[in-house]
Amino acid sequence: MRFRTLLWRSCRLRCPLCGQGRLFENWFRMRPQCPHCDGDLQREGGFYLGSIYFNYGLTALIVAIAYPVLLFNRVLPSHVLLPLALVFVVLFPIWFFRYARSLWLGFDQYWDPRQGEQGTSHSGSA
Ligand SMILES: [Zn+2]
Repeated sequence: MRFRTLLWRSCRLRCPLCGQGRLFENWFRMRPQCPHCDGDLQREGGFYLGSIYFNYGLTALIVAIAYPVLLFNRVLPSHVLLPLALVFVVLFPIWFFRYARSLWLGFDQYWDPRQGEQGTSHSGSA
């Protein structure tokens, strides 16, 4: 399956197999199966620990770039910027939680395609 297709499906929080079914029932609760294609969304135990790479990585990247840029360009003083950064590193991962899981699922589907995939494999003809 094409990388862009999986990325688009992940960003829309949709099933990586069919692109139709929603991955989440609510903000934190993930469906065990796709409601559209019955694709398995609960992989092996601990599978979604990998989504921490996306969540923590993006959070750290944003703060590591934004903090010194805002501080050294004197956009905000440090006594304001530090509390804002602390609030950001708490709230952003909570908001990004679903996207991190969806991106992780799409990443896994790209590198280790599962049965029932609609489309072509990245290793096959595009
Ligand atoms: Zn599906």
